[in-house]
Amino acid sequence: MEDKKEITLLGAGLIGSLAAVYLTKQGYTVTIYERRPDMRKESISAGRSINLALSDRGWRGLAGAGVDTLIRDNAIPMYSRHIHNLDGSEINQAYGKENQAIYSISRRDINCLLMDAAEENGAKIFFNHRVTNYDINNNIITIEDATNKKTFQISPGLTIGSDGAFSSSRLGIQFTDRCNYSQTYLEHGYKELVIEAGPDNSFLIEKNALHIWPRGGYMLIALPNPEGSFTCTLFFPFEGNPSFSMLKTEADVLQFFEQQFPDALKLMPNLAHDFFANPTGSLVTVRCKPWSFNNKLLLIGDAAHAIVPFYGQGMNCGFEDCFTLNEMITKHAHNWSAIIHEFEALRKPAADGIAELALMNFIEMRDLVGSAKFLLRKKIEGAFYTKYPEKWQPLYTMVTFSHLPYHEALAMGKFQDTIMDKVMELPDIENIWNTQKVEDMMLQLLAESEKS
Ligand SMILES: Cc1cc2nc3c(=O)[nH]c(=O)nc-3n(C[C@H](O)[C@H](O)[C@H](O)COP(=O)(O)OP(=O)(O)OC[C@H]3O[C@@H](n4cnc5c(N)ncnc54)[C@H](O)[C@@H]3O)c2cc1C
Repeated sequence: MEDKKEITLLGAGLIGSLAAVYLTKQGYTVTIYERRPDMRKESISAGRSINLALSDRGWRGLAGAGVDTLIRDNAIPMYSRHIHNLDGSEINQAYGKENQAIYSISRRDINCLLMDAAEENGAKIFFNHRVTNYDINNNIITIEDATNKKTFQISPGLTIGSDGAFSSSRLGIQFTDRCNYSQTYLEHGYKELVIEAGPDNSFLIEKNALHIWPRGGYMLIALPNPEGSFTCTLFFPFEGNPSFSMLKTEADVLQFFEQQFPDALKLMPNLAHDFFANPTGSLVTVRCKPWSFNNKLLLIGDAAHAIVPFYGQGMNCGFEDCFTLNEMITKHAHNWSAIIHEFEALRKPAADGIAELALMNFIEMRDLVGSAKFLLRKKIEGAFYTKYPEKWQPLYTMVTFSHLPYHEALAMGKFQDTIMDKVMELPDIENIWNTQKVEDMMLQLLAESEKS
């Protein structure tokens, strides 16, 4: 098992392509089988969302492989969340300190750049090659070449499954003894829509922000694209009132948007057409343990831990997988049983942490961000963080702008909530929020917790 020289990757999506760059740089001969055609040559959808929010963990993963500068040129910084309330009022909330931003990037652009980098470093990608069966016990992978409809079998020394949320390599692990597996769908789905660019590719709403129209049980969001448009995503229940199932005609859609998102509707001339032309996606959380089998197969990225997109961390978490895997290869000097063992021990709790955080953040984004109490709470935390950064980092900052393991951020966030719940109960908190009394209370509660 030690000293493997060749590695087979299944899936050349975001995570498989970045992993290939790291592995080739570590001296491995890398072969990737990807079921789709080469998106650099053929006009195919890069799959799922059109653009993505990239944050610090993702940047570190890209930088570790030396590919961050390629991507930075195409990224648009979003310094704040820009809330559009139903009454027409708008609120701009900075995500972090000055110059801290998350970045809007095109999924296709980043995937193409990463595939270029993988190939430049020597990886060989076979497109139109789909894994149709993975006999995990005998380590035989069956692959179909869609160009000639022929199938063949391989038996690699080490396979890395980076074939996404509906991974065929994971399927093999799922049927092994003592494998824990769960797949949970939200009752909400998503649909991508467009706010068109203005004249000369101008941005018709604030360019450097992630826009949110929170409406309680559902929401619309928008991320900027370099040519002046915004990709909007409606996160909306499949059933009930209101829901996808109720919007049956173009008139239904226009009327609903007129009632709920009137400012966005004015900027969406093709809404009625797009709504029915674009697919409705579902949102799944996948949890699996173990992520490996017999030191011959290791899952990474969504294949190991698909999460809902509300913290904008699925890709970032997968890039962090690649970064950690690379660290483990160096640390354990290419001893793959040690690499896989420590990789799983480090990453599984982190993946469970971000899965929970992502589900929690849906409620925050679609509902709480519009509430005055929530905004006050964030303002108090923000002021305290500015004064005592060594004592307090807001949860969003820990998840998005730090490399603290996700599960530690989650635990810290839950602890901070207990303090903030008490602070928010203070009489007249709306008027005394920035007084010494509030600050002293927070300091005292923190000191008490340190003692206990
Ligand atoms: C609506 C939405 C918005 C999102 N927004 C964000 C965001 O803002 N920020 C963020 O960090 N994350 C976001 N994510 C999550 C992000 O898209 C995923 O975490 C990321 O794509 C995972 O990459 P991956 O390479 O593991 O899987 P994928 O991107 O799914 O790639 C898997 C690859 O494997 C190939 N493949 C699959 N099956 C086979 C097979 N049988 N044989 C061969 N090849 C196969 C596929 O064709 C694909 O190329 C979002 C997700 C959704 C759904």
